[in-house]
Amino acid sequence: MKVAVLAGDGIGPEITAQAVRVLAALATDGLALELVYGAVGGAGYDAAGDPLPAETLALCEQSDAILFGAVGAPRYDGLERALRPEQGLLRLRKHFDLFANLRPALVYPELAHASSLRPEVVAGLDLLILRELTSDIYFGKPRGIVVNEAGQREGFDTMRYNEGEIRRIAITAFEAARKRSRRVCSVDKANVLETTQLWRDVVTEVHADYPDVELSHMYVDNAAMQLVRNPRQFDVIVTGNMFGDILSDEASMLTGSIGMLPSASLNAAGFGLYEPIHGSAPDIAGKGVANPLGAILSAAMMLRYSLGQDAVATRVEDAVRAALRGGARTADIAREGEPTLSSEAMGDAVLAAL
Ligand code: NAD
Repeated sequence: MKVAVLAGDGIGPEITAQAVRVLAALATDGLALELVYGAVGGAGYDAAGDPLPAETLALCEQSDAILFGAVGAPRYDGLERALRPEQGLLRLRKHFDLFANLRPALVYPELAHASSLRPEVVAGLDLLILRELTSDIYFGKPRGIVVNEAGQREGFDTMRYNEGEIRRIAITAFEAARKRSRRVCSVDKANVLETTQLWRDVVTEVHADYPDVELSHMYVDNAAMQLVRNPRQFDVIVTGNMFGDILSDEASMLTGSIGMLPSASLNAAGFGLYEPIHGSAPDIAGKGVANPLGAILSAAMMLRYSLGQDAVATRVEDAVRAALRGGARTADIAREGEPTLSSEAMGDAVLAAL
């Protein structure tokens, strides 16, 4: 199995280095894993004048998965849009048709204090939000701002989904649920929007092939409320691009620190790009204090979803849990006065547990 490692900018290289140490340890332990390295984002621009150099894209095409750090830094802000670091990531998503965005939100008992909700509401939370990433009102045409017959400016967008787009994300949801607690909640607004009535119909049709997975439906307004009322009722939530955009940010904040959260973006073949949800954090870059757990947990997701290594993925996740249980804390997840570790020392703690 070959993995393209694209560390990027800012804290990207610092946190990715710790995920690579974990993968290297697994390789030493018998996992047939080859890591290849490419420049992306600002680092790609510096190396080849392009945030996604042709050489990097070729590396990704020859690999089974991409492990991504983060891109962006203030010094690239003056570049024209096509050369900005973020374009490297957007082009990778487009090139590989990464339509399924998986964002787990998990609260470790030791970190329940870091959530904005009461610990008893979030302790033990373990849900997966699956957001469709390449269609919906964000891409639907026609769209625009015109002057209407009354002489007023009028803005409009088009919410659109075809059944193929819905079917493939529904399949991803049911497959993901099979790797978890086998419950899918599909979120829509079928009481008001035709597009999401079709969404509900197609998800229900696909469900016929997954009798072992429980399916429920929920309106998006209720889902937004339930996420803060009783988030532990959910296992997998699947929804469209716009609703998913909003709900996944809401869910991620239930967990406390942005540095803890991994994500995956997958295509129909199961090829995926795996990255922590945070950015390049220029405010702490170069200090060696960033939390590497989001990156390490992204590597675990990669093992599970693209490399078919479920048991190894669980081993990595258990090692993260054990490190936290043992008191390992970077600054972002420490209580006031608690001793804090560098990124590398947190990597050491996970490796020791592994
Ligand atoms: P950010 O996620 O980089 O940082 C937000 C805050 O969270 C900062 O205070 C930062 O120090 C903290 N933080 C983030 N990751 C952390 C970690 N692992 N450990 C400890 N603290 C952490 O978001 P931002 O500041 O809005 O953006 C900075 C740059 O990152 C911008 O150039 C932006 O475009 C880019 N960005 C990239 C991605 C990506 O690569 N996928 C995503 C978001 C933002």
